Amino acid sequence: MILSTRRCARVLQLTLAVIKPDAVAHPLILEALHQKILENNFVIVRKKDLIWRRSDSERFYAEHEGRFFYQRLVEFMASGPMRAYVLAREDAITRWRELMGPTKVYRARYTSPSTIRAQYGLTDTRNTTHGSDSEESAQREIAFFFPEFSIDQWLEKEEPCLRVGH
Ligand code: UDP
Repeated sequence: MILSTRRCARVLQLTLAVIKPDAVAHPLILEALHQKILENNFVIVRKKDLIWRRSDSERFYAEHEGRFFYQRLVEFMASGPMRAYVLAREDAITRWRELMGPTKVYRARYTSPSTIRAQYGLTDTRNTTHGSDSEESAQREIAFFFPEFSIDQWLEKEEPCLRVGH
């Protein structure tokens, strides 16, 4: 698999996680989410604070163009600072999405009250976090947010298993 390494007993997978502007705006929520990442044994491979231009937002969410929430979404995502992470652990993609919970906040509160979106989400759009949903999207999204980061080089040269759980 492109985004995984089998160098040690565990197979580490990379994913892209983003803390969206609604959550970054509240320092205590930002800190709680950062702690959640660490508590769940993700290795923070890269971390970046950034602000999108509207054109970045439109490009990233191009697949949703035309949907009823698209304009609201692209405006929101360009409305303030975000924090992006490249995270590694076993089953990173699934695990981060499980921690986030369902896209829609009301559904998250009803079906999975302990998830991030249930606890901190404001609306279906202002839902605190993003996470890649497949290895293909993780690869594309990591390149979008971290164009200077080489996944191949990281898998080749670093020794990520040593740092899991630390
Ligand atoms: N979104 C929205 N209304 C909806 C569905 C999605 O505002 O009814 C926003 C929301 O911020 C979501 C993003 O669009 O996180 C991308 O939607 P997707 O279906 O890819 O959900 P995700 O993968 O983020 O759970």
